[in-house]
Amino acid sequence: MPTHNRILYWFRNDLRLHDNAGFAAACEDATQVLPVYVFDPRQFRELAAIGVKKTGIFRTNFLIECVADLRASLRARGADLIIRVGEPSQILADLAETIDAQAIYASKEVTSEETDVESALSKRLKPLNIDIEFFWTSTLYHVRDLPFGVAKLPDIFTQFRNRVEKYAPVRELVPTPDALQLPDDVDSGDMPTLSTFGFDNALKSDVRAAVPFKGGETAAVARLERYLWEKDLIRTYKDTRNGMLGEDYSSKFSAWLAHGCLSPRFVFHEVKRYEQERIANDSTYWLIFELIWRDFFRFVALKFGTRLFKPSGIKHDLQKHWRRDFDLFQRWAEGETGIPFIDANMRELNHTGFMSNRGRQNVGSFLVKDLGIDWTWGAAYFESLLVDYDPCSNWGNWNYVAGVGNDPREDRYFNILTQASRYDERGDYVKHWLPELANVPADKIQVVSTLTRQQQTDYDVALGEDYPMPIVNPAKWMKK
Ligand SMILES: Cc1cc2nc3c(=O)[nH]c(=O)nc-3n(C[C@H](O)[C@H](O)[C@H](O)COP(=O)(O)OP(=O)(O)OC[C@H]3O[C@@H](n4cnc5c(N)ncnc54)[C@H](O)[C@@H]3O)c2cc1C
Repeated sequence: MPTHNRILYWFRNDLRLHDNAGFAAACEDATQVLPVYVFDPRQFRELAAIGVKKTGIFRTNFLIECVADLRASLRARGADLIIRVGEPSQILADLAETIDAQAIYASKEVTSEETDVESALSKRLKPLNIDIEFFWTSTLYHVRDLPFGVAKLPDIFTQFRNRVEKYAPVRELVPTPDALQLPDDVDSGDMPTLSTFGFDNALKSDVRAAVPFKGGETAAVARLERYLWEKDLIRTYKDTRNGMLGEDYSSKFSAWLAHGCLSPRFVFHEVKRYEQERIANDSTYWLIFELIWRDFFRFVALKFGTRLFKPSGIKHDLQKHWRRDFDLFQRWAEGETGIPFIDANMRELNHTGFMSNRGRQNVGSFLVKDLGIDWTWGAAYFESLLVDYDPCSNWGNWNYVAGVGNDPREDRYFNILTQASRYDERGDYVKHWLPELANVPADKIQVVSTLTRQQQTDYDVALGEDYPMPIVNPAKWMKK
């Protein structure tokens, strides 16, 4: 029996109808539900320190597709998605008052910009006597099911994993609401376009991209279907996950998980079903293992608050000093370092909004350990470019890469040459993104700066012209 006449449901990074505890509760508790999404222009502002937009074109495009897909799904159920552009707390409070809602329901976020919006909204709703309720929708393990308080979250990932695996259940899926009733006489609002957020040109897709990311729950579920059931790729995930080329080496679920188009519990239960119907092995387990990493970073963010975003990091390390050399940073960002393995990865990011996990570890280590540049610049650049950007996973991983995380065992230095020869032995990945090196043989491709003049002529590349001289002498990695 509904307890409310009208509830406004505020969609945030939970852009799905399946396994959405907040939206399902709103549909159960109210006779009429008004689903709303608000694009916040502050998320599209310029980041002055590094000269890029906070949300770049890839993620903006993906987000618009996610919202459009959600609207289409709601319309197919006889409802709609109300769309607005502006400051969320103001817009939501006004809308809730206009429709005479008794409450606003929404998913709970944990990082500061998001919780600031929650507080601002809560303040506006108080004098209007409208309730606000938040629901936990983003992790595999529900925060209430953790076998410890968040303040006692283990610092070491393995300890966290062992304890949740042993003591915390993964909840069943929340059923998708089917019958929806919308309050009428609310203008549904137009979908914004890229130009709404200051992008002059349409997004150019690159045929070399690992996977064509299409935003929305429909594409998310289709990707899962393909990865698990049609192509059986999860069967070998543990062996392939360090790959860098193509769509098959890893799940590519991240962008949909980050926007909430895919519920991690849905992935979990599908993997369990796969294990029953096909095979259970190290690989099927490993995909769940990675989802537990994702959970870990969300709980780390909850525990450490704004420390996650500061140069001194979660560890509050005030001893480390970071360089703010913008020219050097730009060489890294543009994939112009003269180190092929680094440049190929950065160019993939710049052309597609995606980079493999192996690539992220390497370009991150190179920026902070070899160039000594402020890691928060790297994290902010990733925030702008990544289609799968998630504040907890991005800033959490960067904390670890920079050695300011909470697990001392994660402060690793990557020897770029060793990594390149291990994960791109024949140079196929480098050649995919750096066509100017197409004729360089496999044994020279990762160290092109050592090519003699004659070799440059033979392999059709002029160093310093077609491809830059290195900003770090690769000899340092040969001695090690
Ligand atoms: C410096 C750095 C920044 C990163 N920034 C992000 C980010 O903003 N958003 C993001 O989703 N991931 C981030 N990652 C983690 C990881 O690189 C991506 O999740 C992964 O490459 C996405 O590809 P996939 O979906 O095919 O992953 P798969 O290998 O198929 O893994 C399955 C899922 O597990 C989760 N996962 C895997 N590895 C990690 C990890 N190390 N940390 C957290 N979750 C993980 C992701 O949700 C992923 O979709 C970052 C890693 C590094 C080193």
